[in-house]
Amino acid sequence: MSPKLDADDLERYARHLMLPEVGPDGQNKLRAGRVLCVGAGGLGSPVILYLAAAGVGHLGIVDADRVELSNLQRQVLHGTPDVGRRKTHSARSALRRLNPGVEVRIHPVRLEAANARRLVEPYALVVDACDNLPTRHALNEAAVALRKPIVYGAVHRFTGQVGVLAPHWGGPCYRCLYPEPPSPDELPEPARDGGPVGVVPGLIGVLQAAEVLKLLLGSGRTLLGRLLEVDVWSLHCRELKVRRDPECPCCGSRARPTPGPSPHVSHRSGQRTAGAPHHSRHAG
Ligand SMILES: [Zn+2]
Repeated sequence: MSPKLDADDLERYARHLMLPEVGPDGQNKLRAGRVLCVGAGGLGSPVILYLAAAGVGHLGIVDADRVELSNLQRQVLHGTPDVGRRKTHSARSALRRLNPGVEVRIHPVRLEAANARRLVEPYALVVDACDNLPTRHALNEAAVALRKPIVYGAVHRFTGQVGVLAPHWGGPCYRCLYPEPPSPDELPEPARDGGPVGVVPGLIGVLQAAEVLKLLLGSGRTLLGRLLEVDVWSLHCRELKVRRDPECPCCGSRARPTPGPSPHVSHRSGQRTAGAPHHSRHAG
């Protein structure tokens, strides 16, 4: 993107520019934003679409899968003609249609321990929109080591959860919340369990995109220190206070809370265990 807002930008982002919380300065912050979205599926679809629409200037997309017909019930980033294409390539095509001013880098690989740091390093923050626990743990470990915040989301059937994970800002990492990996029989099996209902990752992904925008803008109150759970079928929400575990096997011995680059982020200490859901129910 060009360094100054041009006439097209002024029109495209007119509704942002009128908001005191965004305005031209905020729009330029979004344009300078570098965000990696891990997963271009149910959660990644709204994340990627809304961040591109909002003018986040540099988007990375990691996904090793190809579009399947059964994905389209919820993965609205892709269309019927995309079945069989790599999700990264389909996503890039969609973003070119939506906002050609966004620089899109695609990574058609599975994020794992061996490549996680290399993938995460160029970005200011990361969206966890993945659908499996090995990727989630590898991403968490890399983000903790590189001191990058994760905007986390996960879904299961009719429920979802969303939060901001950043030990270097005083919040928890994923393993602070879920220290132990689940046993195999606790792992969700969408093929057996069904779901999620397509609107659930839609809703959670939109909330993740909103967290990214607030972090990039340095405005609003983020979910750092809070985990929001939503049951779409009863439309019941609950907010859990979560905090960093000093004994965490991932961030406990290394990460020290420091004044982060987003001092607007409000911290609320609290107990992490009270009613915390088991992650095996929320694989993504
Ligand atoms: Zn931790």
